[in-house]
Amino acid sequence: MMRRFLIIFVVLFSGSAVGADSTTLNGLAAELAAKVREIVAACGSTVLSTWRPHSMICNRRHCRPSEHAMGRAADVAGNPDCIYAHLKGWPGGYSTDYLVMGHVHISYNPHGPEWGVLFVHGGGWSR
Ligand SMILES: [Zn+2]
Repeated sequence: MMRRFLIIFVVLFSGSAVGADSTTLNGLAAELAAKVREIVAACGSTVLSTWRPHSMICNRRHCRPSEHAMGRAADVAGNPDCIYAHLKGWPGGYSTDYLVMGHVHISYNPHGPEWGVLFVHGGGWSR
């Protein structure tokens, strides 16, 4: 009885619980997984988070599903200069506020709002 309750709890909250973040490249868009693999190999960076079911991105006006919820984003930390060098020409989106967040958020979703966009976490969108 108690065990069943626990399992349901974990499933419901896995989207927001920090410890439940997936750091594997399984389930990521192939193009994104390849780029992350390239960065980890070349820069010695660490993958903090990839697939987070149900995660949302909100600003003051509205929320939308995070690219993480669709397996189309990865957060990578370590050696930011190297990471950004490898992201030159990247067709998807990525964050540029490494000094604030401590990671680079890289996304690949040709139909998503981050496509071709460089952005700052929690701020406005900018190209
Ligand atoms: Zn992210």
